[in-house]
Amino acid sequence: MSKFLRERYRKLESYVPGEQPKDRTFVKLNTNESPYPPGTAVLDAVSRQETAALRLYPDPECGALKDSLAKLYGVKRANVFVANGSDDILNFAFMAFAGGRTKAMFPEISYGFYPVFARLHGVEFEAVPLQEDFSLNPEDYVCKNSLIVIANPNAPTGKALDLCEIEKIVRTNRDNVVLIDEAYVDFGAQSCVELIHKYDNLLVVQTFSKSRSMAGARLGFAFSSEGIISDLEKLKFSTNPYSINRLTMAAGIAAVEENDYYMENCRKIMDTREYTAAGLRQMGFAVVPSSANFLFVRSRIMSGEELQTKLREKGYLVRRFSNEKIADYNRVTIGTREDMEGFLQAVSEIMEER
Ligand code: PMP
Repeated sequence: MSKFLRERYRKLESYVPGEQPKDRTFVKLNTNESPYPPGTAVLDAVSRQETAALRLYPDPECGALKDSLAKLYGVKRANVFVANGSDDILNFAFMAFAGGRTKAMFPEISYGFYPVFARLHGVEFEAVPLQEDFSLNPEDYVCKNSLIVIANPNAPTGKALDLCEIEKIVRTNRDNVVLIDEAYVDFGAQSCVELIHKYDNLLVVQTFSKSRSMAGARLGFAFSSEGIISDLEKLKFSTNPYSINRLTMAAGIAAVEENDYYMENCRKIMDTREYTAAGLRQMGFAVVPSSANFLFVRSRIMSGEELQTKLREKGYLVRRFSNEKIADYNRVTIGTREDMEGFLQAVSEIMEER
């Protein structure tokens, strides 16, 4: 740290992303990426022609991309926001909709970036404990007068709320924004996008990073009332109006056109998830029922750290978190069927070696 850093940022602990190894010797089951590549429409869209056009700035309004998302999700362009990954959108939301007397609230065990954004923007927050089985009690979020942020399905547990439970939270907090982070919604949970027509305080955030195989392109999107969208646009145009580059924009539009390809991949991932969960349960693991592209699992005979280290030695990267309540769990991203057959084999060898 230099002596120049502003006082308010001196104690900031930044988010630590999952490891991205430079060599190719690992099967990466640690950052919830898709094991499938983007579809052919995306490969065609990121063309020589589009690359040659990089000399020009991209469309700061992102009109064509917003229109294609609006059509797919049955909303108007004015209800759509797009940014450089959904992290960018979460950042704007903490900047815009909390602070001063408005606190933020989110589950204690959830996406590790929420408290980082809160601290970055000087927002006081309450981290609400989950129940024993990691389920979230919607009653904890009723009438709270806070910015409420809930990942649905939650990460890293994979547990989801249903639409009625989400609606109750949105309905009872009409004077504050309720942000539902649907990064993993395409893997079997119920989206609440339709509720934006009924409630002007709901902000639904999604991403191209998981179900649409484009974590490397950095593209997030959100749906909300026109008012909230214009607030987010104000912040985007006060920081970086060109945050979505031309290649990502073209890729995003193409991916929406071939939506069926990605939804089919989601079905495959969900099947592989259930196959993996069954295999782990057979070996005596506690496996949290998941509606996401990962499993949250605990060995009954080995610490989370030991399992993670041994898996690494066998070429499999999984993710573990520092919160001591979940120290014995590992989060395992679902890869291809072959990846997971190999993973189960590795786990079985580790259990036998012990
Ligand atoms: N929300 C949740 C719950 C996540 O797990 C992630 C992925 N780390 C994100 C948002 C951010 O995804 P991205 O910025 O790649 O869209």
